[in-house]
Amino acid sequence: MDFSLTTLGTASARPTTGRYPSAHSLTVGGRLFLIDCGEGAQMLLAKYKLPFSRIDNIFISHLHGDHVFGLYGLLSTMDMVGRASALHIYAPGDIESMVDTFYREFGKVRYEIVIHKVKCSEPLLLESFKNLEVYAFPLRHRVETYGYLFKEKERVIKPNIENYIPFKPRAFAYCTDTAPFPQLAGWIKGADLIYHEATYASDLKALSRTTAHSTSEDAARVAVEAGAQKLVLGHFSSRYKNLDLLLQEARNIFAETYLAEEGMKFDVPKIRVNQIK
Ligand SMILES: [Zn+2]
Ligand SMILES: [Zn+2]
Repeated sequence: MDFSLTTLGTASARPTTGRYPSAHSLTVGGRLFLIDCGEGAQMLLAKYKLPFSRIDNIFISHLHGDHVFGLYGLLSTMDMVGRASALHIYAPGDIESMVDTFYREFGKVRYEIVIHKVKCSEPLLLESFKNLEVYAFPLRHRVETYGYLFKEKERVIKPNIENYIPFKPRAFAYCTDTAPFPQLAGWIKGADLIYHEATYASDLKALSRTTAHSTSEDAARVAVEAGAQKLVLGHFSSRYKNLDLLLQEARNIFAETYLAEEGMKFDVPKIRVNQIK
Protein backbone atom coordinates (compact mmCIF):
# COMPACT_ATOMS: atom_id res chain seq x y z
CA MET A 1 0.00 0.00 0.00
CA ASP A 2 1.27 3.43 -0.94
CA PHE A 3 1.83 5.36 2.29
CA SER A 4 3.69 8.58 1.60
CA LEU A 5 3.85 12.23 2.48
CA THR A 6 4.11 14.95 -0.15
CA THR A 7 5.33 18.16 1.43
CA LEU A 8 3.79 21.20 -0.24
CA GLY A 9 4.04 24.30 1.95
CA THR A 10 7.20 24.47 4.06
CA ALA A 11 7.30 28.11 5.21
CA SER A 12 6.34 29.45 8.62
CA ALA A 13 4.12 32.50 9.15
CA ARG A 14 5.74 34.68 6.51
CA PRO A 15 5.88 33.00 3.10
CA THR A 16 8.89 33.62 0.88
CA THR A 17 9.04 33.57 -2.91
CA GLY A 18 10.23 29.98 -2.83
CA ARG A 19 8.13 28.62 0.03
CA TYR A 20 4.41 28.45 0.70
CA PRO A 21 2.82 28.21 4.18
CA SER A 22 1.99 24.80 5.69
CA ALA A 23 0.05 22.29 3.59
CA HIS A 24 0.84 18.62 3.01
CA SER A 25 -0.76 15.65 1.39
CA LEU A 26 -0.63 12.15 2.80
CA THR A 27 -1.33 9.33 0.35
CA VAL A 28 -2.69 6.17 1.91
CA GLY A 29 -3.66 3.56 -0.65
CA GLY A 30 -5.87 5.48 -3.07
CA ARG A 31 -6.91 8.21 -0.66
CA LEU A 32 -5.43 11.62 -0.02
CA PHE A 33 -5.48 13.28 3.36
CA LEU A 34 -4.74 16.99 3.42
CA ILE A 35 -2.82 18.11 6.50
CA ASP A 36 -3.05 21.86 7.09
CA CYS A 37 -4.25 24.16 4.38
CA GLY A 38 -2.08 27.26 4.16
CA GLU A 39 -2.47 29.88 1.45
CA GLY A 40 -1.82 28.41 -1.99
CA ALA A 41 -2.67 24.83 -0.99
CA GLN A 42 -5.05 24.30 -3.91
CA MET A 43 -2.49 25.55 -6.44
CA LEU A 44 0.14 23.23 -5.01
CA LEU A 45 -2.25 20.26 -5.10
CA ALA A 46 -2.95 20.99 -8.77
CA LYS A 47 0.74 21.52 -9.57
CA TYR A 48 1.71 18.13 -8.11
CA LYS A 49 -1.29 16.32 -9.62
CA LEU A 50 -2.91 15.48 -6.31
CA PRO A 51 -6.60 15.51 -7.29
CA PHE A 52 -9.02 17.32 -4.96
CA SER A 53 -11.58 14.63 -5.73
CA ARG A 54 -9.58 12.13 -3.68
CA ILE A 55 -9.53 14.36 -0.59
CA ASP A 56 -12.38 13.59 1.81
CA ASN A 57 -10.57 14.52 5.01
CA ILE A 58 -8.63 17.63 6.01
CA PHE A 59 -6.69 17.75 9.27
CA ILE A 60 -5.86 21.22 10.61
CA SER A 61 -3.24 21.59 13.35
CA HIS A 62 -4.41 25.01 14.56
CA LEU A 63 -6.11 28.18 13.48
CA HIS A 64 -3.08 30.34 12.75
CA GLY A 65 -3.37 31.87 9.30
CA ASP A 66 -0.34 30.10 7.87
CA HIS A 67 -2.19 26.80 8.41
CA VAL A 68 -5.72 27.73 7.28
CA PHE A 69 -5.73 30.69 4.89
CA GLY A 70 -5.96 28.28 1.95
CA LEU A 71 -9.19 26.71 3.17
CA TYR A 72 -11.69 29.18 1.67
CA GLY A 73 -10.14 28.90 -1.78
CA LEU A 74 -10.12 25.12 -1.66
CA LEU A 75 -13.71 24.84 -0.37
CA SER A 76 -14.86 27.16 -3.10
CA THR A 77 -13.03 25.35 -5.92
CA MET A 78 -14.32 21.98 -4.72
CA ASP A 79 -17.84 23.37 -5.19
CA MET A 80 -16.98 24.84 -8.58
CA VAL A 81 -15.78 21.49 -9.92
CA GLY A 82 -19.01 19.83 -8.76
CA ARG A 83 -18.01 18.01 -5.63
CA ALA A 84 -20.94 15.99 -4.27
CA SER A 85 -19.48 13.88 -1.45
CA ALA A 86 -19.10 15.12 2.12
CA LEU A 87 -15.86 16.77 3.19
CA HIS A 88 -14.66 16.17 6.74
CA ILE A 89 -12.60 18.85 8.47
CA TYR A 90 -10.85 17.98 11.74
CA ALA A 91 -9.67 21.06 13.59
CA PRO A 92 -9.45 22.69 17.01
CA GLY A 93 -10.61 26.13 18.08
CA ASP A 94 -13.53 27.93 16.55
CA ILE A 95 -13.45 26.21 13.17
CA GLU A 96 -17.27 26.31 13.01
CA SER A 97 -17.36 30.09 12.91
CA MET A 98 -14.68 30.09 10.22
CA VAL A 99 -16.86 27.82 8.05
CA ASP A 100 -20.00 29.81 8.98
CA THR A 101 -18.30 33.01 7.86
CA PHE A 102 -17.45 31.31 4.59
CA TYR A 103 -21.12 30.31 4.08
CA ARG A 104 -22.34 33.78 5.04
CA GLU A 105 -19.93 35.75 2.87
CA PHE A 106 -19.58 33.45 -0.13
CA GLY A 107 -22.73 31.32 -0.06
CA LYS A 108 -23.38 27.68 0.68
CA VAL A 109 -21.52 24.96 -1.16
CA ARG A 110 -23.45 22.05 -2.70
CA TYR A 111 -21.61 19.37 -0.75
CA GLU A 112 -21.75 18.75 2.97
CA ILE A 113 -18.94 20.01 5.20
CA VAL A 114 -18.71 17.93 8.36
CA ILE A 115 -16.75 19.53 11.16
CA HIS A 116 -15.01 17.37 13.73
CA LYS A 117 -13.86 19.47 16.63
CA VAL A 118 -10.52 18.23 17.97
CA LYS A 119 -10.02 18.45 21.69
CA CYS A 120 -7.90 16.22 23.92
CA SER A 121 -5.26 16.46 26.62
CA GLU A 122 -3.45 13.26 25.59
CA PRO A 123 -3.46 11.06 22.45
CA LEU A 124 -6.98 10.28 21.31
CA LEU A 125 -8.24 8.02 18.53
CA LEU A 126 -9.97 10.44 16.20
CA GLU A 127 -11.04 8.26 13.31
CA SER A 128 -10.74 4.71 12.07
CA PHE A 129 -10.62 4.29 8.29
CA LYS A 130 -10.44 1.02 6.32
CA ASN A 131 -6.69 0.54 6.67
CA LEU A 132 -5.71 3.44 8.89
CA GLU A 133 -6.29 4.93 12.32
CA VAL A 134 -5.77 8.62 13.02
CA TYR A 135 -4.92 9.91 16.48
CA ALA A 136 -4.73 13.52 17.67
CA PHE A 137 -2.37 14.68 20.40
CA PRO A 138 -1.91 18.14 21.94
CA LEU A 139 1.12 20.28 21.11
CA ARG A 140 2.55 23.29 22.96
CA HIS A 141 1.91 26.44 21.00
CA ARG A 142 0.45 29.90 21.51
CA VAL A 143 -3.05 28.73 20.61
CA GLU A 144 -4.71 25.32 20.93
CA THR A 145 -2.75 23.07 18.55
CA TYR A 146 -2.75 19.35 17.75
CA GLY A 147 -0.43 16.94 16.03
CA TYR A 148 -1.74 13.89 14.18
CA LEU A 149 -0.55 10.30 14.13
CA PHE A 150 -1.56 8.19 11.11
CA LYS A 151 -1.21 4.51 11.89
CA GLU A 152 -1.59 1.63 9.47
CA LYS A 153 -3.90 -1.06 10.80
CA GLU A 154 -2.43 -4.48 11.58
CA ARG A 155 -3.05 -6.83 8.65
CA VAL A 156 -4.39 -10.31 9.20
CA ILE A 157 -1.81 -12.77 7.87
CA LYS A 158 -3.10 -15.78 5.99
CA PRO A 159 -1.81 -18.89 7.84
CA ASN A 160 -1.02 -20.82 4.62
CA ILE A 161 1.79 -18.49 3.52
CA GLU A 162 4.92 -20.25 4.71
CA ASN A 163 7.97 -18.33 5.87
CA TYR A 164 6.15 -15.06 5.51
CA ILE A 165 7.80 -12.36 7.58
CA PRO A 166 5.20 -9.69 8.24
CA PHE A 167 5.88 -5.99 8.02
CA LYS A 168 5.38 -3.86 11.07
CA PRO A 169 2.33 -1.60 10.61
CA ARG A 170 3.71 1.78 9.66
CA ALA A 171 3.01 5.13 11.25
CA PHE A 172 3.49 8.79 10.33
CA ALA A 173 3.46 11.61 12.88
CA TYR A 174 2.83 15.27 12.06
CA CYS A 175 4.13 17.73 14.67
CA THR A 176 3.70 21.44 13.99
CA ASP A 177 3.57 24.10 15.48
CA THR A 178 5.13 23.34 18.83
CA ALA A 179 7.74 24.09 21.42
CA PRO A 180 9.48 20.94 22.65
CA PHE A 181 7.92 19.20 25.64
CA PRO A 182 8.75 15.96 27.44
CA GLN A 183 5.70 13.84 26.55
CA LEU A 184 5.79 14.31 22.79
CA ALA A 185 8.30 11.57 21.83
CA GLY A 186 6.47 9.00 23.96
CA TRP A 187 3.16 9.86 22.37
CA ILE A 188 4.48 9.19 18.86
CA LYS A 189 6.78 6.31 19.83
CA GLY A 190 7.33 3.93 16.91
CA ALA A 191 6.38 6.45 14.21
CA ASP A 192 8.50 5.48 11.20
CA LEU A 193 8.30 8.89 9.57
CA ILE A 194 8.03 12.14 11.51
CA TYR A 195 7.33 15.57 10.09
CA HIS A 196 8.42 18.08 12.72
CA GLU A 197 8.64 21.82 12.58
CA ALA A 198 12.12 23.39 12.65
CA THR A 199 11.39 27.08 12.55
CA TYR A 200 14.86 28.09 13.77
CA ALA A 201 18.50 27.05 14.03
CA SER A 202 19.97 26.55 17.52
CA ASP A 203 21.34 30.10 17.87
CA LEU A 204 17.71 31.29 18.03
CA LYS A 205 16.68 28.82 20.70
CA ALA A 206 15.57 31.63 23.04
CA LEU A 207 13.33 33.08 20.34
CA SER A 208 11.92 29.61 19.61
CA ARG A 209 10.84 29.36 23.26
CA THR A 210 9.13 32.76 23.38
CA THR A 211 7.26 32.07 20.13
CA ALA A 212 6.45 28.44 21.10
CA HIS A 213 8.35 26.87 18.21
CA SER A 214 11.22 24.39 17.86
CA THR A 215 14.76 24.43 16.56
CA SER A 216 15.95 21.72 14.17
CA GLU A 217 17.90 20.19 17.09
CA ASP A 218 14.67 19.94 19.11
CA ALA A 219 13.05 18.12 16.20
CA ALA A 220 15.98 15.70 15.88
CA ARG A 221 15.80 14.85 19.60
CA VAL A 222 12.13 13.94 19.22
CA ALA A 223 13.03 11.62 16.31
CA VAL A 224 15.74 9.88 18.38
CA GLU A 225 13.52 9.43 21.43
CA ALA A 226 10.56 8.23 19.36
CA GLY A 227 12.74 5.67 17.55
CA ALA A 228 11.85 7.03 14.10
CA GLN A 229 13.35 5.79 10.83
CA LYS A 230 13.21 9.15 9.11
CA LEU A 231 12.66 12.81 10.03
CA VAL A 232 11.40 15.54 7.72
CA LEU A 233 11.92 19.15 8.79
CA GLY A 234 9.65 22.02 7.73
CA HIS A 235 7.94 25.28 8.78
CA PHE A 236 11.14 27.25 8.19
CA SER A 237 11.48 30.88 9.23
CA SER A 238 11.63 33.24 6.25
CA ARG A 239 15.00 34.50 7.51
CA TYR A 240 16.71 31.35 6.14
CA LYS A 241 17.48 31.55 2.44
CA ASN A 242 19.70 28.54 2.85
CA LEU A 243 18.69 25.70 5.16
CA ASP A 244 22.01 23.84 5.36
CA LEU A 245 22.66 24.91 8.95
CA LEU A 246 19.28 23.63 10.14
CA LEU A 247 19.86 20.32 8.36
CA GLN A 248 23.39 19.90 9.70
CA GLU A 249 22.43 20.67 13.29
CA ALA A 250 19.65 18.09 13.13
CA ARG A 251 21.80 15.46 11.38
CA ASN A 252 24.41 15.72 14.13
CA ILE A 253 21.72 14.30 16.42
CA PHE A 254 19.63 12.19 14.01
CA ALA A 255 21.35 11.21 10.73
CA GLU A 256 18.19 10.32 8.80
CA THR A 257 16.96 13.91 8.65
CA TYR A 258 15.72 15.55 5.45
CA LEU A 259 14.52 19.03 4.53
CA ALA A 260 10.97 19.34 3.25
CA GLU A 261 10.76 21.08 -0.09
CA GLU A 262 7.74 21.91 -2.19
CA GLY A 263 6.52 18.80 -4.04
CA MET A 264 8.88 16.30 -2.38
CA LYS A 265 7.55 12.83 -1.69
CA PHE A 266 8.66 10.82 1.37
CA ASP A 267 7.61 7.18 1.69
CA VAL A 268 6.78 6.00 5.18
CA PRO A 269 9.58 3.40 5.61
CA LYS A 270 8.56 -0.23 5.63
CA ILE A 271 10.39 -2.62 7.93
CA ARG A 272 9.94 -6.35 8.51
CA VAL A 273 9.22 -7.38 12.08
CA ASN A 274 12.49 -9.37 12.32
CA GLN A 275 14.43 -6.18 11.53
CA ILE A 276 13.09 -4.25 14.48
CA LYS A 277 15.98 -3.43 16.76
ZN1 LIG B 1 2.76 28.07 11.70
ZN1 LIG C 1 1.23 28.66 14.72
